[in-house]
Amino acid sequence: MDSQILVTNIQRFSLHDGPGIRTTVFCKGCSLRCPWCSNPENLEPRPEEYRKDGRTGTYGRYMACDEVYREVIKDRAFYGQRGQGESLAAMPGGVTFSGGEPLLQAPGLEPLWRRLKEEGIHLCAETSLFAPGDRLRLAIEYLDLFYVDVKILEERLCGQILGGNLKEYLFNLELLFCAKKPVVFRVPVIGRYTDNAQNRERVVELICSYPPIKAELLKEHNLGREKYLSLGKHPLTLDSVTDEKLEEYRREIEQRARVPVQICKI
Ligand code: SF4
Repeated sequence: MDSQILVTNIQRFSLHDGPGIRTTVFCKGCSLRCPWCSNPENLEPRPEEYRKDGRTGTYGRYMACDEVYREVIKDRAFYGQRGQGESLAAMPGGVTFSGGEPLLQAPGLEPLWRRLKEEGIHLCAETSLFAPGDRLRLAIEYLDLFYVDVKILEERLCGQILGGNLKEYLFNLELLFCAKKPVVFRVPVIGRYTDNAQNRERVVELICSYPPIKAELLKEHNLGREKYLSLGKHPLTLDSVTDEKLEEYRREIEQRARVPVQICKI
């Protein structure tokens, strides 16, 4: 496994990136520029210098798949075995690929995915789905579960605000559902950007058309602030969405799409 991937961090004992106890590999590089992004260090597809508290450092380094394998396999005892259960609660822990956009590095990740799959480890991706379809096809071959963002579902605004091609997203979503892969939808609820009547309606319709095993509504937070400053960038101050509005949104999705919905505040 001598192919290389660009990684910013490997986080062990993660409880928020999929079922069970997981190790999360943060891949650097993303095709979108969501104004609310809390991982600004994962956007550019190259190592980046930062400065924090008078110190300098680098976000991201190229790692051979072998090296990543040796790191993630350390926690094998906590993972369990693939195929343990179909429902989210019954699924085992394992390894999650996040970012940035992990699908962009799918060809480099393939040997690692193959080896982990052969060893029965449950694999999951957190993805925006804004990536070429051939990368997603590769991921579908190996990964067990997909956490998919649902952000702005109007073509012009998706391009203008996120820098993404909505047609690519919808094409990939169709691919994923045709492959019958379990999906959890993650909906960031961000005042001004994603939280308006038209977008809400589109989000609910999409969830009705592609029923996931679960949907999550993500409340905005400012956790990325320090990282923006360390890169010499200015973090955005986000408009807050009230708990009542979130609860109302949760009920609407549950009633119309008949899927469990969780509100997540980080
Ligand atoms: S898709 Fe995720 S990582 Fe990429 S810009 Fe948006 S929030 Fe950030």
